[in-house]
Amino acid sequence: MSTTFAYLDEIGPEKVIEIADPGAGLRAILIVDNTACGPAIGGCRMAPDVSLEECFRLARAMTFKNAAAGLPHGGGKSVIFADPAMVPEKKEELIRAFGRAIGEIESYIVGPDMGTNEVAMAWIRDEIGRSVGLPREIGGIPLDEIGATGRGVAVAADVAQQAAGVPLSGARIAVQGFGAVGRWAARFLADQGAALVAASDSRGGIAAPGGLDLDRLDQLKQAGRSVSELDEGKRLEPGEIIGVACDILIPAARPDVIRANNARAVKARLVLEGANIPATAEAERLLHERGVVVVPDFIANAGGVICASVEYHGGSEATATSMITEMVTRNTEETLVRARRDGLLPREAASRMARERLVRAMSYRR
Ligand code: NAD
Repeated sequence: MSTTFAYLDEIGPEKVIEIADPGAGLRAILIVDNTACGPAIGGCRMAPDVSLEECFRLARAMTFKNAAAGLPHGGGKSVIFADPAMVPEKKEELIRAFGRAIGEIESYIVGPDMGTNEVAMAWIRDEIGRSVGLPREIGGIPLDEIGATGRGVAVAADVAQQAAGVPLSGARIAVQGFGAVGRWAARFLADQGAALVAASDSRGGIAAPGGLDLDRLDQLKQAGRSVSELDEGKRLEPGEIIGVACDILIPAARPDVIRANNARAVKARLVLEGANIPATAEAERLLHERGVVVVPDFIANAGGVICASVEYHGGSEATATSMITEMVTRNTEETLVRARRDGLLPREAASRMARERLVRAMSYRR
């Protein structure tokens, strides 16, 4: 039997498609995991080292994220085996070839992910008339530009502040990964009276107990520089931000950065998972045992896909913003209530909630 079926369970995947277009140098995989709630939405990741397993895990994560958010969409994902740093002409050829290859798979709506962006989505839309995460000029709601995911992270913080015993007003926040998600989360939380006391990116980190200047950090990033080049505060060693003195920690960069060997160093009382799977299962358990409230990724970072769904259905930016607030509030509340009531980790509680919605949606299918 092929390894494809190794991932099959009662939820999916429905389709696993290997795509090759030797003329364009394209090698890709598309996984449509589950479409009980509606056509699958999920990003297309381009990287040299992607894999079938990664594609499956991400597709399944989208099934849960979309079901948890109550969107009329199932979950899917695609990966292209290539280095996104290639010359633009080659990238366009590859993306367009990929678009044509998935054209007939109407149960999948592609969005941007690592290595692809709104321009790539515009090329695919041009080829097959279907994609999300589009540029504004062609009806898109640019989710990174408006801080869709960061907004949701801040909404989750607003709900969780009571359970964690961390009032947002005056809270000290630390953000690992001062990018599209992290910098907007910091911005929206600062609007609620919190102070960013530490920030990092791939080239280093910086901390100042009295608070960092968000505008100056933005300017550095826009100039292609690192937050660690700020001429105030104390430089941080790689990874040091996880244990920095703060009330709220927002990992918004890479997977598995909070692990069994550093979870005890976390000083925050509240962890908001901006990135996908930033903590291992063991680390989440250790944090929970210490009373640290962790809002799991597919609840805290759903703002981007909620925005993409609103765009797909022709809604406005204002609708996207209010839906993010409404849905992330409801889901964070329900996750924390269930976790307390049933004695579960927040991730377990959120997974049960999403699975129940999914099973109900599946029961309506033939
Ligand atoms: P981005 O590329 O805009 O920003 C990522 C930031 O992380 C950059 O500043 C980068 O320098 C930094 N970084 C990379 N490696 C790091 C490291 N080892 N230590 C510290 N910083 C590091 O990406 P993004 O869109 O903000 O996405 C961040 C994470 O959030 C990813 O895991 C992504 O999958 C997830 N996510 C993003 C969205 C979205 O709407 N953009 C939605 C859901 C989940």
